[in-house]
Amino acid sequence: MRIVPYPHPVLRHVSKPIKRFDADLREKIRQMFDLMYEAEGVGLAANQVDLPLRLFIVNLKADPKKGEEFVFLNPVITRPKGNAEQEEGCLSLPGVRGKVKRPEKVLLTAYMSNGKEYEAEVDGLMARVVQHELDHLDGVLFPDRMSDTAKADIAEEIEEFEFDFLSRRNSGELPSDAEIAAQIAEWETKYC
Ligand code: ZN
Repeated sequence: MRIVPYPHPVLRHVSKPIKRFDADLREKIRQMFDLMYEAEGVGLAANQVDLPLRLFIVNLKADPKKGEEFVFLNPVITRPKGNAEQEEGCLSLPGVRGKVKRPEKVLLTAYMSNGKEYEAEVDGLMARVVQHELDHLDGVLFPDRMSDTAKADIAEEIEEFEFDFLSRRNSGELPSDAEIAAQIAEWETKYC
């Protein structure tokens, strides 16, 4: 397992809800935490590791020895309140940062990996992270939410990712769109 970089097509896939949970998926989630900590991230969505399922993980401290580990399955966000602008980054676009406006508080409802329901009004960094990660599950990346002028500032960096992806794909290092679609269908058959 590894974190797939932009513009890998799975990052634009709208993930389907999970209908079953098993030991394999639990192990995948453990590996997602390992990758997230390695990259010093505070959140990671399943499609960022080529797993097209509606789940994401969070640890606001980015450290397995600190903070709380959250696994949110089939998350839903409602009741947005207020407005906040803050700089964001993304493990699928390493090194790129930009200011994004989002609601300051939201109500997050999800299932946890023990099958229990989670519901909380979240704010601050938690609100920021869960909105960023939920966007991933809908195929949305943070630059999509930036203003045109702010996006212009990172256009060259984005192009570099696109160029790198294309050249790696042309060298046969990355799967084709058809292979990626087949892989997605296989996961959905198993879990959705
Ligand atoms: Zn991200």
